[in-house]
Amino acid sequence: MIQLSELIAEFETIWPTSHADDWDRVGLQVGSLGDQVSKVLVAVDLTDSVIDEAVTIGANLIITHHPLLLKPVETVTDEKLKGSLIAKLIKNSISLFTAHTNADVQLDGASTLMANAFGLSNLKPLMPTGGGFGHGCVGELPEATRLDEFAKRVSANLPETARRVVFAGEPNQLVKKVAICSGAGDSFLAEVLASDVDVYVTSDLRHHPTLDAISTPRAGGPLALIDVAHWAAESLWVPAATAKLAKIDGVNFVSSTTKTDPWTQEVN
Ligand SMILES: [Zn+2]
Repeated sequence: MIQLSELIAEFETIWPTSHADDWDRVGLQVGSLGDQVSKVLVAVDLTDSVIDEAVTIGANLIITHHPLLLKPVETVTDEKLKGSLIAKLIKNSISLFTAHTNADVQLDGASTLMANAFGLSNLKPLMPTGGGFGHGCVGELPEATRLDEFAKRVSANLPETARRVVFAGEPNQLVKKVAICSGAGDSFLAEVLASDVDVYVTSDLRHHPTLDAISTPRAGGPLALIDVAHWAAESLWVPAATAKLAKIDGVNFVSSTTKTDPWTQEVN
């Protein structure tokens, strides 16, 4: 057992709030600082099913990667999505804490976990934020690899999802230098295009930015893109965060087994 306020002080040393982007909302989102916590569930998203999982295992706190409260809410009633989730948390005496961009910028953030899973080395932040931290990462494959082969490797090293891994580019195009941004990384496309990266792996890429990016003339050849399921990419963070938190005494940290990928089925 540990008081929530003490636990949050521990989290602050692991994921300093000051490392979060200005637009982000991290830290305690729902809860009472005086509550006692014995079990914590770690998940990508807060959904009704994740709260059910927390209730089933007797967790008093849920840590999610994605903030429940990012944009302002006008009301907290159970007729609205956010209100119903907040009400359910409070009814079950469960607090909610978020570590988002302040977890992403770390050297063991989701982008780095992806890079390790894909066999990249010489990792550096894609968008440095100072002190060795940064969004995304850039690394190299041991040897130049066909785009279709690398995309297969990406797919094989992520959890299975209904929406498969897709790539944009020539299948036989050779790639060696790889940029990765877990989550929706299209805001970094311009920087990746201007760099000497051969392929960029991220999620939620839209039609126009994708078409423009792969069509842009570049000295080293066209940029290839690999789009993976947002949930699949960031689910790698859950067991890693759980392992990192295990050093905190008196609390049991558990990785969620609830799949919160909203895409449930591919049509054949
Ligand atoms: Zn995300």
